[in-house]
Amino acid sequence: MDEGLLKNILTQSRVYFLKNRYQESCGVVFNKKVKFTPIKNEAPSGWTFSLTPRLHLIKSKIKIICHSHPFGDAYPSALDTKTAIDLDTPFLIYSCLYDNFVFFDLEKCKPYKV
Ligand SMILES: [Zn+2]
Repeated sequence: MDEGLLKNILTQSRVYFLKNRYQESCGVVFNKKVKFTPIKNEAPSGWTFSLTPRLHLIKSKIKIICHSHPFGDAYPSALDTKTAIDLDTPFLIYSCLYDNFVFFDLEKCKPYKV
């Protein structure tokens, strides 16, 4: 993915994640419109995974799935890794605790700081 575009997404999503600092928040980046699109939080924790069936339906339209870790580091959990691979879609994770990102491209993790 283009690094300039990724930087824009990091900046946009960070604002959203910090606004929702104390809950796990989620959003997506669509293929066509390369910007961060928040998805409403209906269940305050682990809710990325309650969304998985819905994300499956639209995954061909999604470039990246983003979520925050309010109280942990930005590295994907075992469930994050499994879900990203199941959905065949990269994950971008933000740590509210350390104010940094990790981008998991389905093979490796790359850290980013805004
Ligand atoms: Zn996670």
